[in-house]
Amino acid sequence: VKTKNFSLGELRCKCGCKMPASVIVRLERLMAQLEVIRAEVKAPVQVISGYRCEKRNRAVGGAKESRHLWGDAVDLQVEGRTGKELREIVEGLIAFGKIPDGGLGTYESRPRTLHYDMRLTPARWHT
Ligand SMILES: [Zn+2]
Repeated sequence: VKTKNFSLGELRCKCGCKMPASVIVRLERLMAQLEVIRAEVKAPVQVISGYRCEKRNRAVGGAKESRHLWGDAVDLQVEGRTGKELREIVEGLIAFGKIPDGGLGTYESRPRTLHYDMRLTPARWHT
């Protein structure tokens, strides 16, 4: 499965485990949002982390209830942009209804990374 600029392979769990069908469906929805983000920043979007199985999530110290476990979360980077800049851009897309609201996070320890997910109850954080 792939969209114009993204493939399921980029979003799959890095441990190489088999993904449940429900996860694949969510990842496909996520890829559509990544296309919208890419079109807005007009630059390649690098997927740092997509779906994580329980084992992998524990290994990387992910949050216990992480949306990465559901397959509707992505950590992304864009060359020459900070996570905070990307967050502003994505907030704009959400405000205009171009992508669904959800979770947006930035991290002191990873200044180039933006976390975006499609949770139903919106959340924002900077840690
Ligand atoms: Zn895995």
